[in-house]
Amino acid sequence: MNLMEELKQMKEVIWYNPNYGEFESFKEDLPLTLEDIIHAEERLQRFAPYIKRAFPEVEDGIIESPLVSIENMKKQMETEYGKKIHGNLILKRDDLLPIAGSIKARGGIYEVLKHAESLAMKKGLLNINDDYSILAEEKFRDFFSNYTIQVGSTGNLGLSIGTISARVGFEVIVHMSQDAKSWKKDLLRLKGAKVIEYSSDYSKAVEEGRALSEQNPNSYFVDDENSKDLFMGYAVGGIRMKKQLDAMNVIVDRNHPLFVYLPCGVGGGPGGVAYGLKLMFGDNVKCFFAEPTHSPAMLLGLMTGLHDEISVEDIGLDNKTEADGLAVGRPSSFVGKIMDKMLTGAFTIDDYRLYEFLKALYKEEGIFMEPSALAGFYGPILTSDKFKDDNITHICWGTGGSLVPEHMVKAILES
Ligand SMILES: *Cc1c(COP(=O)(O)O)cnc(C)c1O
Repeated sequence: MNLMEELKQMKEVIWYNPNYGEFESFKEDLPLTLEDIIHAEERLQRFAPYIKRAFPEVEDGIIESPLVSIENMKKQMETEYGKKIHGNLILKRDDLLPIAGSIKARGGIYEVLKHAESLAMKKGLLNINDDYSILAEEKFRDFFSNYTIQVGSTGNLGLSIGTISARVGFEVIVHMSQDAKSWKKDLLRLKGAKVIEYSSDYSKAVEEGRALSEQNPNSYFVDDENSKDLFMGYAVGGIRMKKQLDAMNVIVDRNHPLFVYLPCGVGGGPGGVAYGLKLMFGDNVKCFFAEPTHSPAMLLGLMTGLHDEISVEDIGLDNKTEADGLAVGRPSSFVGKIMDKMLTGAFTIDDYRLYEFLKALYKEEGIFMEPSALAGFYGPILTSDKFKDDNITHICWGTGGSLVPEHMVKAILES
């Protein structure tokens, strides 16, 4: 059966990208450079004193997450699947990212802060050499309250943008698709965001949000499908990994490749991270995207080369998945084009398997994450058929979960 047929039948598949090329051969053609991402990292450094003041729980003002080795989980997976996972298995804990509890803390907070900086500088209220903690003062909150931020989301991006925007002082409107969990909407309202609910999917929520924002000259739309700033915030996570791996004594070179498995929705989060990683490690890092069998939007866009000109609905899929963060039917073309030669592969995973990994991770390591965040775990199993090198370091990017309310965690674990 060919790949398209398998996708239509919602089979789990792994696809190795036939367009994959050596990083050096196309690096120069990409729209963003390492320097751009270093500038983004410097901007986040400037904002650290502000973050520290506005969110005292973020002790150093830096929004980052740990890497942890998960040996027990690796053994469980090997037993469960009757396969050897060559090399070691590490989990990136973006579920612990402060403020938003998901990978969206990277892109979302970066973009809102950059916008705030630009408004304040234009007005002559802020200088690049200032201590940015002044931005938490009432006079700045008053100034920002004249401006609106809007975003369309399946949940987590809304949580991130809504929380940071409300704290900065912006009026913020979050357009939520039908699949967004109600606790995410409730939490956002509690933080002071206005939530508009749609009975349609993510693409529609984005479209409505964009249209409404365009009617208001003081409104700024965070465009999940096209935003370079979101992408840059995510990419910072990729470039920071080098230091974290060094600290764990993990070598990455020709003979010690890094395999990274990233849950993918519209593509910005995993795409940005993958790009940051490629800039640091070049061909020694192999990136894979993971999507639900009901929503393989990025895989479809890449394999057909049609990017945002094709949706999962076009091939008869319903885009319905428990992995709400990945419930995206049409991929970002901006990201898809950047990934075209960069991505090693992509695979799909059934919803029931997300829950199996979720429960196993909790049992073996005491770590709870939301269903979307487990999609990458199927990667080391799937690639083990092809790559049998004991020097591989596999990293599953855990993308969210620390804000899930206690009673829901309990309900999921007992289901
Ligand atoms: C948004 C999200 C992703 C994927 O990010 P995209 O930018 O939509 O591709 C993965 N996991 C979780 C938990 C998310 O919220």
